Amino acid sequence: MVKEQIHQIQTEVWKEKHLQKIHTSLKPLQHWSVTRRNPCVREIIANLVNLLCGNVPALVLSAVIDNDTEYVCRVCGEYLLDVGKHFVMNCSATNLERNTMWDKLMDSLPIQSMCYIHNLEEEDIYTVLLSGNCPSLTTEELDRFLTITAGGIFNIFLKVRDLNAIQVNE
Ligand SMILES: [Zn+2]
Repeated sequence: MVKEQIHQIQTEVWKEKHLQKIHTSLKPLQHWSVTRRNPCVREIIANLVNLLCGNVPALVLSAVIDNDTEYVCRVCGEYLLDVGKHFVMNCSATNLERNTMWDKLMDSLPIQSMCYIHNLEEEDIYTVLLSGNCPSLTTEELDRFLTITAGGIFNIFLKVRDLNAIQVNE
């Protein structure tokens, strides 16, 4: 019982910290400027902004089981705390989509920016992917960066939706 309570408190603390971190780096204007310059990516960028604000799409949320203090991924079986982060950063079932996204980033961004991102903690890498807050990107590079991460995360979510649909039907 005590152990459970401690775990619950830790989870709350973690969640708060996570939200704070995202909030301090949250500049949605940056995202809307990207969509103003590239109207065709509006839908995927909107998905990114939602995620940045903590709104995981219902189709993705249904791919995890809520165990009160943590979630279990229906697709890979892992325990997790942050649903969006699990599928974007860790889930083994979305490796292919994740690798494709990273390859595209590697091909389109300056090597210095990629080094900067790779030297961050996992938590901060996730925040950078959502926010585009990577220092010294030109406007054009920022557009490319957010277009790639928004598209990559959208594809990851589509994969999760499809895999979950197969699971539910089995
Ligand atoms: Zn998983």
